[in-house]
Amino acid sequence: MPSQWSALNALTVDVEDYYQVEAFAGVVRREDWPNWESRVERNTKLLLEMFARHSVRGTFFTLGYVAEQHPQLIREVAESGHEIACHSYYHRLVYSQTPDEFRQDLRNAKHRLEDLIGATVIGYRAPSYSITSQSLWALDILIEEGFSYDSSIFPVHHDRYGMPDAERFPHVLHRPTGEIVEFPPSTVRIGGTNLPISGGGYFRLYPYPLFRLGWQKINRTEAESAIFFLHPWEVDPDQPIVPGTRLNIWRHRVNLSQTQRKLERLLKDFAFAPVREILAKRNLGLQTREMALAAN
Ligand SMILES: [Zn+2]
Repeated sequence: MPSQWSALNALTVDVEDYYQVEAFAGVVRREDWPNWESRVERNTKLLLEMFARHSVRGTFFTLGYVAEQHPQLIREVAESGHEIACHSYYHRLVYSQTPDEFRQDLRNAKHRLEDLIGATVIGYRAPSYSITSQSLWALDILIEEGFSYDSSIFPVHHDRYGMPDAERFPHVLHRPTGEIVEFPPSTVRIGGTNLPISGGGYFRLYPYPLFRLGWQKINRTEAESAIFFLHPWEVDPDQPIVPGTRLNIWRHRVNLSQTQRKLERLLKDFAFAPVREILAKRNLGLQTREMALAAN
């Protein structure tokens, strides 16, 4: 149920398993993925149930690998009215790949997802928001490979990602190969600095009223849409502990047991839609056929 303010916000899920995250990439190699207990199906279904209860639809940025291992799950997500978008195939950081490697992984993931759901995939989010000033070439490849929007450029300072001076709200990026819409993860501007207020660990860490205040500022004061992101493993406090540095384990596990309760409140307090529907409704100067279809 939409709340007292009318701005539509994007609800997004990065569909991956707890042992596939970048923080543990040094511990769990890709070849070892099959040896870990997969919990992505159970956790994604939990989110689907919660979203259905609140009558909200969102965008699921899905790993090609997850689609390969759990095709029925991804079909179910699409059949429930959610948008399927791309989160790469193997969750490699963009800036750790060559442009050719990035393109091949992207193509494999897009084809896998499109074959599965029988629809065009137009949205992309990089693993760990790894489109930074050193990997902007990825935007050109996204355009060439048929993507209409990206949600990977985080306008904050962070040890693994971020472009602190990037724009904070949806806008069109003009690149040598064409144009693409960027929907940056949400921030609030305080004292000349952008603070992340988009989801994931930040959502688990901040007290909910503080998170809500930040979003009210975006929706009301700035009259803009916010974007929320979450991983299926964030509603699973019983997931196995992956060994890693103390900082990484803390970041991964902080307040996992509170996510569901906070998410229930967020879904009640704000209005949500899939990314491509929000972009279709806004006049950003780039309207692809898929966006026009989504607006209807
Ligand atoms: Zn991810």
